[in-house]
Amino acid sequence: MCGICGVDGHSDAANLTYLGLYALQHRGQESSGIVSWDGQRAHVERGMGQVAEIFKPQTIGALPGDRSLGHVRYSTAGPSALANAQPIVVKTSMGPLAIVHNGNLVNGVQLRKELEEEGSIFQTTSDTEVILHLMARNPRRDPVESLMVALERLEGAYSILLITRDSLVAARDPHGFRPLSVARLQGATVFASESCAFDLLGADSVRELAPGEVAASRNGELETYTLSPAAQTSRCVFEHIYFARPDSQIFGDSVSQSRREMGRQLARESPVIADLVTPVPDSGLYAALGFAQESGVPFDFGLIRNHYVGRTFIEPKQSIRDFGVKVKLNPVRELISGRRVVLVDDSIVRGTTSKKIVRMVREAGATEVHLRITSPPNAFPCHYGINTPTREELIASSQSVDDIREFTEADSLAYLSLDGLLTCVSGSPRGYCTACWSGEYPVDVRGAVAAQQELFAIGAES
Ligand code: AMP
Repeated sequence: MCGICGVDGHSDAANLTYLGLYALQHRGQESSGIVSWDGQRAHVERGMGQVAEIFKPQTIGALPGDRSLGHVRYSTAGPSALANAQPIVVKTSMGPLAIVHNGNLVNGVQLRKELEEEGSIFQTTSDTEVILHLMARNPRRDPVESLMVALERLEGAYSILLITRDSLVAARDPHGFRPLSVARLQGATVFASESCAFDLLGADSVRELAPGEVAASRNGELETYTLSPAAQTSRCVFEHIYFARPDSQIFGDSVSQSRREMGRQLARESPVIADLVTPVPDSGLYAALGFAQESGVPFDFGLIRNHYVGRTFIEPKQSIRDFGVKVKLNPVRELISGRRVVLVDDSIVRGTTSKKIVRMVREAGATEVHLRITSPPNAFPCHYGINTPTREELIASSQSVDDIREFTEADSLAYLSLDGLLTCVSGSPRGYCTACWSGEYPVDVRGAVAAQQELFAIGAES
């Protein structure tokens, strides 16, 4: 999972991109990078860490030009490393190219193998680099045409931004797995993963790119192209459940509203007699509000999150272990003690966090702890860009809801039904990817799974 932002046609392009990435920080904290184009050459700055750690006034000052793009990274597989930090910048016969990518290519490993057999030398183990190699092998007078040729070979999820010698290009895969929107700012074009970036920049949101749309901005002027369509769209509904910021609009819906609706729907499906509804912050917040509004059970903030826990937190040694969730969350005893508590969270992955939270709330004096989850049991890994563990590690792949309830030590546990979930977002339910719950993958992943296993066996990353 990653966040991407780009600006074309503004003298402060890199600075605006920096601000856009700042707003998208929740989409990735492992590495940050920006490239700018001054009309002659590309300037790049990348590093491991969050945007504010990598970029200082002098770093941004060293990124001149009126075209820029940037990336915050959350690797979807394998170790994160500086070599894989984006943007990736290369020189080709069409001029310099710089790319950022949010998503996951299911045929990335196969394409890489093919290209290597034909002589390509890769600098990274990121699937994104494949796109640049495909372009370099199919040069056209207009690099956008070369990009279209490359994109037609890709399978899987991609929202990308690309700088060419005369344009900033945005593209969204034909299934539309990941979000990507366009806005205007003082005659400039701005692209970003989520609309919350536009709010920070003061840009006017125009629209989301359509699935399969390629939009090229030249000095702020937009021209659009279309890739071969997919049989149907497969927007990632997990963006609404967990990933996106609640103040964003994605896939045509407000994230805060869809989350609130999930809470309401869950209260209708699985009511519980209780004294307090409390969110597991932050992702459970709006859903807990919805649950409380629908059920009439009072809402309060029974858990407080420490927002300053970063990569720099030093894990204690074995002797004082199992700090785990306490570093992030602490119960408000006065609210919880003596009460029957409903805990609302967005998902259970391995189950370990839920178990710790339930125990923590009970130790704070709750007489009953009821878990309500605003998504169905997560039994299948995502191959389209959300970082989920293997099938074996997903607790719902091998255990029933009742087994999971027992494991988490909750008094009751209920998940939102898949049908119920899909009523909380607009458009046809068939327009969303539901693979993590149903196992129905809209783009075949069998080849990708085998190829990836082989690649990881030799210590690489996708
Ligand atoms: P677990 O202990 O593995 O069950 O973790 C569940 C928690 O992880 C939930 O509170 C979710 O908010 C959070 N979560 C869900 N999906 C992800 C993800 N892809 N990356 C990081 N955290 C996640």
